Amino acid sequence: MSASDYRTRFAPSPTGYLHAGHAFAAAQAFGAAEEAGGTCLFRIEDIDQTRCRPEFEQAIYEDLHWLGFDWPEPARRQSEHFDDYAAALKKLTDLGLTYRCFLTRKEIARRLDAADVAVSPAGERPFFRPEPILSADEEAERIAAGEPFAWRLSLAACRDYLGHGFEALEFKEDGADEAIENGVTQAHPEWLGDVVLARKDAPTSYHLAVCHDDALQSITHVVRGADLYHATHIHVLLQTLMGWHTPIYHHHSLVLDNAEKKLAKTRNSTSIRDLRAAGARPEDILAGRVES
Ligand code: GLU
Repeated sequence: MSASDYRTRFAPSPTGYLHAGHAFAAAQAFGAAEEAGGTCLFRIEDIDQTRCRPEFEQAIYEDLHWLGFDWPEPARRQSEHFDDYAAALKKLTDLGLTYRCFLTRKEIARRLDAADVAVSPAGERPFFRPEPILSADEEAERIAAGEPFAWRLSLAACRDYLGHGFEALEFKEDGADEAIENGVTQAHPEWLGDVVLARKDAPTSYHLAVCHDDALQSITHVVRGADLYHATHIHVLLQTLMGWHTPIYHHHSLVLDNAEKKLAKTRNSTSIRDLRAAGARPEDILAGRVES
């Protein structure tokens, strides 16, 4: 690969104002592209229409430009492409790899408790399609009654479909966080279980949209936070099922606050705009020389 073929992306979700952790993540992605003589695209991951807000999106553009980042325009906005994700979901459904799950979150939690399901290395309790599966008649009745459901990926069906290929799923981790092993890693989709691909109020999930777009945008390297490391174990499966190329991954460490907690919009970590208003300069924020 020549240096200029290197393509990564920075893909924030406009669910709040960016904080120092985002600035660090952006510096990782844009910096990696610069070092490789490649390109870093910018993507707005705004599929969650209940949490994303236009003012946050506007602020992301302003903050990133103020920090000194630039990218090829136009940026892709996921909310403008729900049809693409629906087509990907249809393909998986046509292959017999998805199912409608009518269980509420509460009911799923109850079943996981009852079955004493342990937390997997991905930090969650994986859910798998319950047996016996719903009959076509019962399913039709529930749909006719307007019962909400989620489309889930059936790992059992994926296993049948891929045969030995399921155990052979792997990805390359390049220069990772010290907690994550470097080199070629076997993917363990079963750590995440039958993930949701779409819901009634959300026509696509993060997993499907991100894999779709990384393929569409010919991303060769994904540079993102270590909090998304386990998601990669499902992403490799989706890429393989859909015939999409698997990029090389680099999961970088996260910026922690004084209490050693990950910075988060929900934890009121100081926003870049507040730091700017308080007189911080871009180079201070990018060098981590600010209290967050
Ligand atoms: N949109 C995701 C986030 O804001 C990042 C997705 C990714 O880099 O794969 O956490």
